[in-house]
Amino acid sequence: MPLVTSKEILQRAFEEHYAIGAFNANNMEQIQAIVEAAQEERAPVILQVSQGAIRYAGLEMAAGMVKIIASQVDIPVVLHLDHGTSFEQNILCLRAGFTSLMFDGSKLPFEENVAITRKICEVAHAVGIPVEAELGQVLQITDKVTPEDVERAMTDPDQAAEFIKLTGADSLAVAIGSIHAMRSQEATLDIDRLKAIRKKVNVPLVLHGSSGVKNESLLEAIENGISKINVATYLNQAFMRGLREGLEKMPDEVDPRKVLAISREYVKEAVREKIRLFGSAGRIDSAGGFVSPRKVFGVVKPGTPE
Ligand SMILES: [Zn+2]
Repeated sequence: MPLVTSKEILQRAFEEHYAIGAFNANNMEQIQAIVEAAQEERAPVILQVSQGAIRYAGLEMAAGMVKIIASQVDIPVVLHLDHGTSFEQNILCLRAGFTSLMFDGSKLPFEENVAITRKICEVAHAVGIPVEAELGQVLQITDKVTPEDVERAMTDPDQAAEFIKLTGADSLAVAIGSIHAMRSQEATLDIDRLKAIRKKVNVPLVLHGSSGVKNESLLEAIENGISKINVATYLNQAFMRGLREGLEKMPDEVDPRKVLAISREYVKEAVREKIRLFGSAGRIDSAGGFVSPRKVFGVVKPGTPE
């Protein structure tokens, strides 16, 4: 079916206390794996194009692949820009057919972040496209990041309320203790801070850097208003595990597809696992519409084991 906007699926997830997985679309195999997993799990899904993917595949190529695959399935698929860098880049994505935008002004002074986010919202909303913004900073993992740095970069609940009022952003990425690109699940989120933000901000909240967060903490975050969870590193790890295993098993193989097919299968499994954990499995009926949780059996609560 045609792409849908993130507004409609996030609002529903927010109201029904589950989260939508937002998975990074880096190459054809990963995109196929993500959408096949979502289709089999009957889950709405967000494919997001990061700055790295734009450099690697090009904006139009990444967007084109997502659009093609979305047209072949009967679940809602969103094409989202991850960490948009400027007003201009967001407008380019609007033109390329993205159905969800993001401006990350988290490193800018508050007023500047507000001004650019508001400008993007004005233009995007005119054509019905929602915008994610970021306040507070989800840091990138390096040897130098200390727990104090993470604490200092966290989202302030009062400022978040002011920010949403001033910008009209449709969802907000919050810094509550996760770090981008962590390789193992060690971090625990600041749920009290999340609750405080939730009390003051009435839009779906977004968690970046989920690959490094413990499952129990993710589930608590979903219960308290996180409606979109970005997953990148965990899928890249699965892809690379498949690649290494394939090369080891078939050292003389000349057909790259034989190896890449293993990677694709591993990514698919990783996506299925996350979709079930986030509680978005079983939300879409066989006609492509949303299952009403009150009427229909078979909806999987967040964290229900397979
Ligand atoms: Zn991020």
